[in-house]
Amino acid sequence: MVGVGLTTAEAGARDILGAAQNRRLKRVFDLVVRGGKVVTPDGIMEADVYVDGEQIAAIGQVNAPARRTIKAQGRLVLPGLVDAHVHMQCAAWHAISPNDFRLGTRAAALGGVTTIIDFATQKRGHPMMEAVETLMEQADPETAIDYGLHLSITDASKDTLGEIEQVVAFGIPSFKMFMTYRSHNLMLDDGEILDICRRVHECGGLPGAHAENAPISERYYARIRDRGCQAPHHHALAKPNFVEGEAINRVLYLARVAGSRFYVYHLSTAEGARMVQRARQDGQKVLAETCTHYLTLTRALLERSDGVNWICSPPLRDDADRAALWSAARAGSVAVISTDEAGFNAADKAKVANGPLEDIPNGLPGVAVRLPILYTEGVLAGRISLERFVALNCTNPARIFGLYPRKGVIAPGSDADLVVIDPQHQVRLDTETQHMPVDWCAYDGMNVVGFPAYTISRGQVIVEDYSFCGERGRGQFVPGRIQTQHLEAFW
Ligand SMILES: [Zn+2]
Repeated sequence: MVGVGLTTAEAGARDILGAAQNRRLKRVFDLVVRGGKVVTPDGIMEADVYVDGEQIAAIGQVNAPARRTIKAQGRLVLPGLVDAHVHMQCAAWHAISPNDFRLGTRAAALGGVTTIIDFATQKRGHPMMEAVETLMEQADPETAIDYGLHLSITDASKDTLGEIEQVVAFGIPSFKMFMTYRSHNLMLDDGEILDICRRVHECGGLPGAHAENAPISERYYARIRDRGCQAPHHHALAKPNFVEGEAINRVLYLARVAGSRFYVYHLSTAEGARMVQRARQDGQKVLAETCTHYLTLTRALLERSDGVNWICSPPLRDDADRAALWSAARAGSVAVISTDEAGFNAADKAKVANGPLEDIPNGLPGVAVRLPILYTEGVLAGRISLERFVALNCTNPARIFGLYPRKGVIAPGSDADLVVIDPQHQVRLDTETQHMPVDWCAYDGMNVVGFPAYTISRGQVIVEDYSFCGERGRGQFVPGRIQTQHLEAFW
């Protein structure tokens, strides 16, 4: 290994390296990404990444031949991004997101995402696996990239608690609980949350929550309605920061009682970030995620004439929250950045723009633009290092949801999921350049660097020269198996 200058990027990959060495006897790899600046767990190094079949075979600086060469001199080579929070073809509020599994995963690939984690939402009173089957029937024939699943669990009946073990064994270890959306039949009460935390923990899974205090926001919505205030910015006023803060505070307490690890989905406030940080300092095993839009947009957008488009939950916040989330992303209490992709057309939002506010489809289109926006606003703006960018967007979500080391890392034996970025290539974001089929752009006018020139998924080039060349249906379900040793680094 040393003799030919190949190095493993990770210790303990001896079997894998053995396989790579055997294959090397053939002397010809399937693909090499040559001469790029590669972000590996050992740091950033100029190296060639060799691919055999669907896996990374070796990383080094030898001139081994390959059937195909991608020149990456002067470019960055990152692991394919994992988006741990998406809702493809989200059907809610009487609308359906045009970012379906076909077009949405195509857009994701164009934005350097090689794995998404979507949500199978249990229909209350029905088996959870029913929701899983329905979602997989939609995804399997269409998805261009690999996907994992979370389970949105909506009741805590004996049957449902009993089914958790089976869902975890199937490869879905993460359970999201809604503390809000009572009228959508999704909300769980505190007793249910406590029982689910206990059971998920016993089964080796990871409970988590969409944390917003429903009774308070419901009363605020009603008050706003009574006063005839239905402008989009009233949505943010109905859900002030403490609506999230209170819910996080409560649910972290319940998780502590249950003795379970816990994941906070789409953290949006400085208050929430502080609570997560404090809980972690107290030794509680808590992980938090925030999203591209909470780091880069504010609720001032809701006051525009087309402000209804930016309605999402939790709502957009202020500059102070953005700053707090960036520092939490730097310091570690935010471990993951996702998109919460739920891109509805402006036309569908406009239809119900006159209220009631609760009926306006919630969510922003974002799956294709996370890489360029966060590379620009995070790395180039000096808020996070390139290594931290990779941790937040690739490695951490893979570790947390049990996809690591298959996903989220450039290492021998890992899936050959790679992106190649030209740091000189600048794009102005608009409805066209964001690649999504949605008819508006949440980041319109933003100049970004970082769209991948190439995206490689399990060894196959699916984006070449900024154009999609993948296949619908090639993506696979990747079962998640949480391994405690891969979480140790977080505590
Ligand atoms: Zn979501």
